[in-house]
Amino acid sequence: HRPMARLNLNLSKKYLDRCIKYYPGGSHFNFATPQRPLNIPFKRGEGARVWDLDNNEHIDFFNKFGALFLGHNHPQYLEAMIGGLKKATAVDMCDMEVEVAEALLARYPSADQVRFCLSGTEAVQNAIRLARGYTGKQRFVRFSGHYHGNADNIIGGYPGDTDFPTPKMKSNDVLNTKGRADGVLEAQSFLLQWNDAAVLQSTLEKYSGEIAAVIMEPFLVNGGGIAPAPGYLEQVRALCTKHNVLLIFDEVITGFRAGIGGAQGLYGIKPDITILGKALGGGSMPVSAVLSTKEIMSLYADGKVIFGGTFNGYTMGLVAVKACLTILQADTGCYERVEGHMKKIGELLVAAADDNDIPMFVQGLPNALTFHVDDVAPTSADTYSNKNKMLSNIIRETSKRFGIQFCPISRMYSNIMLNDSDVAFFGSRIGDAMQASKAEID
Ligand code: PMP
Repeated sequence: HRPMARLNLNLSKKYLDRCIKYYPGGSHFNFATPQRPLNIPFKRGEGARVWDLDNNEHIDFFNKFGALFLGHNHPQYLEAMIGGLKKATAVDMCDMEVEVAEALLARYPSADQVRFCLSGTEAVQNAIRLARGYTGKQRFVRFSGHYHGNADNIIGGYPGDTDFPTPKMKSNDVLNTKGRADGVLEAQSFLLQWNDAAVLQSTLEKYSGEIAAVIMEPFLVNGGGIAPAPGYLEQVRALCTKHNVLLIFDEVITGFRAGIGGAQGLYGIKPDITILGKALGGGSMPVSAVLSTKEIMSLYADGKVIFGGTFNGYTMGLVAVKACLTILQADTGCYERVEGHMKKIGELLVAAADDNDIPMFVQGLPNALTFHVDDVAPTSADTYSNKNKMLSNIIRETSKRFGIQFCPISRMYSNIMLNDSDVAFFGSRIGDAMQASKAEID
């Protein structure tokens, strides 16, 4: 086998230099630029592939931070969006409000009602406010390695509470930021180790009078692709009920990806509040949602808790949600099909690593896999080592030169248009990408 040459990315690099002039770091967010990587600008996408400015073809496992679950240019989605544009000047309610809510809530039986907004960050903040309004309590519990958006009171860090039941957790340091309002983390949250029911129990026993909510990713995608331990979600559910604390599932990633009914459908657990985002709008429209019971949502209806947002429930967003649900519902085999492809992708990746003496594990939801460059796969966000992350980053950056786009933090997001030929394409590139990665690592 003669290794393929690295892709010619001259036009992309030139364009990126121009981007850097106008965008800090050449990007719209920090997460893609921890080590000045090459962010390749793309001009076209189709299914699971994207094309760069130099006309190179790449397989896409980035999929817009996982939002693009339907794939690039899904024909039915595109058609629905074009149709939607004709309605998009509606200023308030449009004539599909009921259909969208019914289709969505049928898949999330933990909830009776929904409010739409635009980003996951916003939906999380609205959910926390709702939980505070409902319980009359102030603080919340969050978990190491879980990500809930870009707001001061929840991104990174760790509360410095001396009474705090668990010590400083390194895994969240990476998201620490200057400019945060003083003391908000300490004042508002307890940061605990996830998958540890005992620590939650002792915290709730001691502080439940202060705690409004427990918020978590029900399957830890952001912290290493870690599944809830058997029985853990049931224990959390029971503890929250016992202590009058609302359980919030942040299903911004797991909604639709873990199954059409999210991780709560997969595990059969009913949270009090559900947050959806990313894939909810098919990946091209910003739409997020807060879902809950009629009783809890009555605080909105009664005007006791405010939920503002000029573009909440905007027409194109609703069209996108409807299209997404319609497509996933009609394509009944899509989960089994894509999960089969992702299994092969994972196997090809590990085999290529093996051939190059790179230790590797792949774990996570089939549609949101994480690869770990380590001898053992992490079982918590705090055993997800910096070395592992750094080596994974090298593989991600190097693979771009061979037409493979991984997501930051060694993630592989699928989309439902992934097919056999994409798997073959990946198979034809990953060996060379891994060999080049090995040279970089050494
Ligand atoms: N929650 C989770 C679980 C997420 O993964 C993200 C985004 N990665 C968010 C919330 C924040 O969503 P957004 O970026 O749309 O604000």
